[in-house]
Amino acid sequence: MTLLVQKFGGTSVGNIERIKAVAKRIASSKEAGNQLVIVVSAMGDSTDKLSNLALSISGKPPAREMDMLLSTGEQVTISLLSIALNELGISATSMTGSQVGIITESAHGKARILDIKTDRIKELLKNGHVVVVAGFQGTSLGSSKTAEITTLGRGGSDTSAVALATALQADCCEIYTDVSGVLTTDPRKVADAQLMLKVTCDEMLELASLGAAVLHPRAVEIARNYGVKVVVRSSWDNEPGTTLTSSEKRSLGKEGLELSKPVNAIELLEKQAVIGLSHIPDQPGIAADLFETLSEGGINVDLIIQSTHQGNSNDITFTIAEEDLERTKFLCQRLIEKLGGKLTAQTNMSKLSIRGAGIMGRPGIAAKFFDTLSKSAINLRLIATSEVKVSCVINAKLGAKALRYASEAFDLKDQQIKINPTNIDNNEPEVKGIALDPNQVQLSVINVPDIPGSAAILCQAFADEGICLHTIVQSERKCDSNGKIISFTMNKNDRKNADNILIPLLKVWPAAYLEDGQAIARISAVGAGMPVSIGTAGRMFRALANAQINILMIATSEIRTTCIVSENDGVRALKEVHKFFKLNSKS
Ligand code: ASP
Ligand code: MG
Repeated sequence: MTLLVQKFGGTSVGNIERIKAVAKRIASSKEAGNQLVIVVSAMGDSTDKLSNLALSISGKPPAREMDMLLSTGEQVTISLLSIALNELGISATSMTGSQVGIITESAHGKARILDIKTDRIKELLKNGHVVVVAGFQGTSLGSSKTAEITTLGRGGSDTSAVALATALQADCCEIYTDVSGVLTTDPRKVADAQLMLKVTCDEMLELASLGAAVLHPRAVEIARNYGVKVVVRSSWDNEPGTTLTSSEKRSLGKEGLELSKPVNAIELLEKQAVIGLSHIPDQPGIAADLFETLSEGGINVDLIIQSTHQGNSNDITFTIAEEDLERTKFLCQRLIEKLGGKLTAQTNMSKLSIRGAGIMGRPGIAAKFFDTLSKSAINLRLIATSEVKVSCVINAKLGAKALRYASEAFDLKDQQIKINPTNIDNNEPEVKGIALDPNQVQLSVINVPDIPGSAAILCQAFADEGICLHTIVQSERKCDSNGKIISFTMNKNDRKNADNILIPLLKVWPAAYLEDGQAIARISAVGAGMPVSIGTAGRMFRALANAQINILMIATSEIRTTCIVSENDGVRALKEVHKFFKLNSKS
């Protein structure tokens, strides 16, 4: 028999009519012979309303009491839905998170799931019941061994559903929502966004972190790590929706269902060269010209980094395979003769990357990676970060040592260590979705000492304060006192807390100072086929150049190319890039 976990979000159960409609849908799925575990959110915006009640009494309500309060929202829905199902002649039993045994950490308001007991659910399923479980909540076994109600964080019902599907080894986890699935971009900004039939979990994580809020990122992390099949589809029709895929197939281990060890692989890529073009004009079209020229020359560029500078010149740095060096130099030289600027090339470089789900959402991980390398006196030439991978380019001589220390630091086993992995063509499109994140600011620390450890200190300080840095770019340009520039973007809301970190830090680095950039938007193209397609970045830059949009920063990672543009250009940039990659028409 097929075992399905079906999750219905707040809008799908927003009123009694909808609860009845959802009950009918569940009843027909049950009559079709499926075993069903249903997970629901609170009705409509009731979680917000509950939260406002508390805030009308206190500006800082105790976290324990908030969980006690907010968890009641889902309890209303499970009982009403079970009543509706029983009314249709379907035996249904509702269960809270604690009744099921959804065991979480004790961190109120953001608890991660450690374990899910399945005995009671299995028993009910065996007896032909539909089990209706409250999403978003669990129970922690506090230090005094007294059970406490916890919640997983806003939007957490998706996480409950995928975690239950994992623990029950369900055939599929269906997430029912008020949209038809995952779209190529935000339909509120781009009217002709199209449905994606399939998306890999890694792509989904990159897109979700940029604000494509269809699925809670933690739910995608679980789906990715355990290879659970997840389908996102509409509650109101029978269209197939979007299927999430993952090639991982981890089995549940001792370290807790939502892993405490998010890094699951490390890779060393040798024989890399770093090419730097410095002091080239800062105007739309330069990056496009450069990377189109390289792609026409058949050169597959890996990392690309560009940061803005005072004055009107840019530095663009990128990495290629060493075997392409002569040809790349030749092509760049020709361009520089036209544009001005300076070309540098450095061979004998290696790229070391850690990989895992949700890396940038846990700011301590990149910091630990950089710190491990700095303790071994390894200087980082370039840094590239994304939701699923953090890479740095280092001197090849230090590659083996760096690999060994980082593998130890993240407790990785032999089978998780990959040397010179080849990119396999998985027939995935180079770009599947475009995301825009407008709520960002850019900051640069100028004159950071160019010695091992600087990036680590900076990232660690932000991590300690719980601030996630998004696009971290370490540029090649040397400043007056021979220091370097590290630029990054962060959520606007985090900017004021950033001073707490930066002011003490800048005291340690007397020559360094801070420069606030303009209001910016991050626009990212994401596609699992990107590593094997030549010229994707160039095409994205061309789309922006055609629209006369200046690129302030570029940061690429394996399956994502991100451009920072001025905030005012954000939506226009999104539309142009979406159209350029022909995502606005069904293929
Ligand atoms: N009801 C909770 C919230 O509104 C959980 C959820 O809807 O997923 O955040
Ligand atoms: Mg929700």
